[in-house]
Amino acid sequence: MGDHVSRVFVPSVTEEDGATIGLGCFSSEDTAWQVLRAFLKKSEQMLLESCSVVVWDIDVVGEEAMTVLSTMDCRDCPVCGRRTFWIDVDNFSALCHGTACSAWIEENTVDPEIIDCGWPTTRFLKQNKSIEEAVEALFKLGDRLRSVGDERMDQLSAESLIDD
Ligand SMILES: [Zn+2]
Repeated sequence: MGDHVSRVFVPSVTEEDGATIGLGCFSSEDTAWQVLRAFLKKSEQMLLESCSVVVWDIDVVGEEAMTVLSTMDCRDCPVCGRRTFWIDVDNFSALCHGTACSAWIEENTVDPEIIDCGWPTTRFLKQNKSIEEAVEALFKLGDRLRSVGDERMDQLSAESLIDD
């Protein structure tokens, strides 16, 4: 009979015009996430709205066959302004997939009440009480960077900006 696959993991992305792009059908959740993350690197060149990873149980009739594992929305990045900021509101996490940005939000590993956010370029790191506050902190950082009016600011001047 061979190995039976009892459930499959299906990552997909939805474009701004509502069209859904299926990224495949996988027997492991890890692979599904790897494929999705690799695709999200292209979000800079596309107009994407949201993405999800869904589990389908094989040979189950009806809507119980489907479980949504995770959904993320694509928003404008608070720091770099590109539409490459993927936010998972349910899991308090976000990451900018724009080149050389990687602004992020994560639940604190020690204290789940705290939501961390950061920007690797200047090693900016801030603790927040909510995901909204974390997004706000990144917007403030982005505003300060933009106010300098130099899009290709080098790391040193960016750091001095954060320190003041
Ligand atoms: Zn960004």
